[in-house]
Parts: sequence; structure tokens; C-alpha cells
Amino acid sequence: MINVTKSYLPNKDKYKAYIDEIYENGWLTNNGPLVQRLEKRLAEYLGVKNLILVSNGTVALEIAYRTLDIRGFVITTPFSFVATTSSLVTNNILPIFGDINEKSFNLDPKNIENLITPNTSAILPVHVFGNACEVEKIEQIANKYNLKVIYDAAHAFDVKYKDKSVLNYGDISTLSFHATKLFHSIEGGAIIINDDNLVQKARYLINFGIKNTEEILHLGTNAKMNEFEAAMGLCVLDDIEEIKERRKDILENYRKELKDLVQFQEQNKNATENYSYFPVVFKSEEQLLKVQKALNEKQIFPRRYFYPSLDTLEYIEPKQECKISRDISKRILCLPIYAELEKYIQDTIIKNIKENL
Ligand SMILES: *Cc1c(COP(=O)(O)O)cnc(C)c1O
Repeated sequence: MINVTKSYLPNKDKYKAYIDEIYENGWLTNNGPLVQRLEKRLAEYLGVKNLILVSNGTVALEIAYRTLDIRGFVITTPFSFVATTSSLVTNNILPIFGDINEKSFNLDPKNIENLITPNTSAILPVHVFGNACEVEKIEQIANKYNLKVIYDAAHAFDVKYKDKSVLNYGDISTLSFHATKLFHSIEGGAIIINDDNLVQKARYLINFGIKNTEEILHLGTNAKMNEFEAAMGLCVLDDIEEIKERRKDILENYRKELKDLVQFQEQNKNATENYSYFPVVFKSEEQLLKVQKALNEKQIFPRRYFYPSLDTLEYIEPKQECKISRDISKRILCLPIYAELEKYIQDTIIKNIKENL
């Protein structure tokens, strides 16, 4: 069975050596030595100042909201993984959906300003499929209206914008290191904070608000990464360049073979790509369903990322409608892409798509 992605497993002996280390020192969680090592290595590799590891990408978003005291309304995109929106709702923040750009699939800066009200406290864009948002335009709007910006950068591991990490834009960016992501630590995530003065607050927030054995400073939660996850992260990080090389070959082959047949995501010209997803947009939902059925019969399971559009979620009141996001959601399919995807399987996928258009 071929899925949209396959979790990368590093060399087993290398992972075991880290596990031996954990057994020797008996430190399993609570900011252990491997978590500290991974934080340092990731901050260096990504080119960011303040990086805090957490237990997953969803909680990373929630810590970001609490670190910045976000409340009221937040302008976000309906074209994302459900956690972008559900994390807001969980924290009693109302998502206000701005429609996406039909080419980049990212929140369109044109649609932000007319949604701003006195209740708006932040903008929460997503670098969808690793395609960098129009970060400079978003920054201008945020400055003009004194709004915070949080980027859900779950897909944007190691993406550069004008030669520096895209994670340096906005007040906070969050990453997910879930097993299905480009870089993973089984479960995990990170928050990247640009204001040095907020780092300590976020560190207390991920550990119940505890300052030391006698002082509890404020409300907090448990969002800590453990040592076994950090060990996996350290192993995967060793191989990340190789992983990206393989994915790049696969992506370029898809692009060459499918151009003129389907719509691709238009990439931000000022940014690098990380080859984490390969979405294609069909002319109609019927066409998508036909291709999907043909591939499923061959035991190949591309994913309808992202479907449904989040502005259709029944638990959000008042009802909102983003036409472009709804339209793209119905016609977009993410094709299998991962380091170990074999050439003959990719050829089968391409052949089946061509035959069913
Ligand atoms: C994966 C993902 C998340 C959630 O991350 P988890 O680590 O699975 O909690 C949030 N936002 C986006 C855009 C994602 O793709």
C-alpha cells in the first residue's frame, strides 16, 4: 500500500545508541540532555535565535497564543490542516477566515484588511505545503493595525525567504515534527520566538507555569518533548539533506511529467522550496475522484489535502464563506512523495493520472 507519505526511519543502531544513553543517565523527560542538544542543533540548522521544543505542533500553536496573550478574533486561512483552526477555538478565540490566493493557496494579504475590527488581535497565516506567504505585505498590515502575527509553519521546515529563515518573520512561528512531516521526532514540534523577552514566559508555559520548586508563576500546561522523541529528531536531522535531495528528484519528475495537465501551486519567487508536498489541482472534483479511484484500485492512496475547507466546519459560528478555498479544496490532491518512493511506483502514479484525465 502506497500512501501520500511514509515516515522516515533512520539507522536503527544509531537510534539504539541514543536509547542506551537515556538508560545510562535515567533522564526520560523534563528538558533532558537530548532535548537540549536537539534545540541547539535545530536553531543552528534553521538559522533562528530562540527555538523551544514541544510535544506537538498543535500545542505549539496554543503556547504561541498564550505567550502573546491572544484573544478575541484572529484572521486566518481556511485552507489548512484542521489544527490551525481548532487550536484557536479550543482557546476561545474566534477564527475569522480570509480567502486564499488561487495560485499560491496561501492567505491572500488583499483579503486581510477588510476583516480587521477592534476585536482582532492577530493574523495567523500558514505557509501551505511549505510555500512561503507574502511575509512583507503581512508585516506591513500588522504594523499598521498593531496586530500580532503567528505563522503556522508546520510545513515550512528549512524554508528560506530572501536568504534567511522564513521562521524569523512574525512574532512567533510554530513547527510540527509529527511522523508524517518532512522532519520528524515521532511526535513533536517547536516554537520560534523573535522577541527575546518572551522566551522565558513560553518556557514556563510548557511546564505548568512552574518557575522552581516553590513558585508557580501563572497558568501553564504540559507541552514537553521527551528524550526518546529528541533521540529520533537527532537521528533524522543527520539525514535531512539526503531526504530533501531524494524528494527534490521525485518532485521535479512529477513537475516535468504533469505540466500542462494539472494546475501546480505557484511558488513564492523570493523563497526556497523544501519538497514536503506535491499538490495538484484538477479541472473539476469529478476528474479528481476519477483519478483517485483509479489510483486506489492500484493500492495507491493520495490524500485530499486540504479538504474540506475549514470555513465549512460546523462548530464555527457565525458561518463564513471563502469561495476560492472551497473551490480549490474540492479539486486538490496531494500525490505520494517521500524519500523511499520507488521510481516505478511514481511512474505508475503518473501513468494512471494521464490515462484518467
Ligand atoms: C501537522 C500540522 C499541524 C499539527 O501538528 P501536530 O504535530 O500533528 O499536532 C498544524 N498545522 C498544520 C498546517 C499541520 O500540517
